[in-house]
Amino acid sequence: MNVFLVLAHPEGRSFNGAMFDTAVETLSAAGHAVVTSDLYRMGFDPVSSRRNFTSVKDADYLKLQNEEVYATETGGFAQEIETEIAKVEAADLMIWQFPLWWFGLPAILKGWVDRVFAMGRTYGGGHIYETGRFSGKRALLSLTTGGPEAAYRPDGFNGDLDAILKPIQRGMLNFTGFSVLAPQVTYGPVRVSDTQRATWLAAWDRRLSTIESELPINVGRY
Ligand SMILES: Cc1cc2nc3c(=O)[nH]c(=O)nc-3n(C[C@H](O)[C@H](O)[C@H](O)COP(=O)(O)OP(=O)(O)OC[C@H]3O[C@@H](n4cnc5c(N)ncnc54)[C@H](O)[C@@H]3O)c2cc1C
Repeated sequence: MNVFLVLAHPEGRSFNGAMFDTAVETLSAAGHAVVTSDLYRMGFDPVSSRRNFTSVKDADYLKLQNEEVYATETGGFAQEIETEIAKVEAADLMIWQFPLWWFGLPAILKGWVDRVFAMGRTYGGGHIYETGRFSGKRALLSLTTGGPEAAYRPDGFNGDLDAILKPIQRGMLNFTGFSVLAPQVTYGPVRVSDTQRATWLAAWDRRLSTIESELPINVGRY
């Protein structure tokens, strides 16, 4: 498989960094072609603007989706965006590794989606959900939380994690055609021992070694 790994964590030695390193090592050792985007180390700018493009459809009024469609027609994406879109297009499996921040994606990853999942090139023109541009590809969220597992059950004090992830799994991944594999959730890595964290990294390694044969989950509709 072609696997594309995206990391969104400001500290390379974090537990998220360890999960990312494990994925790179395990998937490479299994013979998959692995490409990465380590967003903080790349200094990726998450703010969408005219810098997304080399082309200009309307210099007077910035309507991002119109500019995205025009850039799709004219090859007018800025190189940093073109490079990221090409990584997604080449991937059979895409994995996002991130800490849950304010019940969602860290801003650097949300902004990466804002800029890279461009209308025309990645969705639109009737290409959404089952007919999405990325249908046939799979995606997986690997995230960490601060709160414990019990807090993220439907009756827990934060509530159902599946519901928290739905805007990402349904609104971004399914929307653009991806089939979604079960999320890899590491609850509260700060709260446990080194031994427990090593056990979780080993479990991630085991899961990844057979990930090619995993079937997608139904993330549900709104
Ligand atoms: C802005 C913000 C918003 C947040 N919002 C939420 C929220 O909505 N919900 C929520 O639940 N939490 C929230 N949090 C908490 C956050 O999700 C957790 O702090 C984060 O997920 C923990 O992961 P980490 O990689 O940062 O852990 P780290 O603190 O980096 O790592 C945990 C421990 O693992 C150790 N470690 C690193 N590598 C290894 C290794 N190879 N083997 C063994 N141990 C290792 C580290 O040394 C450290 O001791 C928020 C935090 C911030 C900053």
